[in-house]
Amino acid sequence: MFFCKGTMKNAVSNYMVDLGNRFIIIKDVPCHKCDQCGEISYSGEVVAKIEETVNKLKEASTKVAIINFAA
Ligand SMILES: [Zn+2]
Repeated sequence: MFFCKGTMKNAVSNYMVDLGNRFIIIKDVPCHKCDQCGEISYSGEVVAKIEETVNKLKEASTKVAIINFAA
């Protein structure tokens, strides 16, 4: 893992998952963003919810799914 001297600030970002034949976009995902290099990191809790959401949407028949993180 790489650390620069920037400050990690609370932010929201759009998280995109490319499953090959399917594309999932999760909007407004809470994250920490470095004010210097722009690196984004997610808390374990957020990563767990992203995984859960992706697993649910894998079953959906839509090619592109766009959902809000809080939904
Ligand atoms: Zn940085």
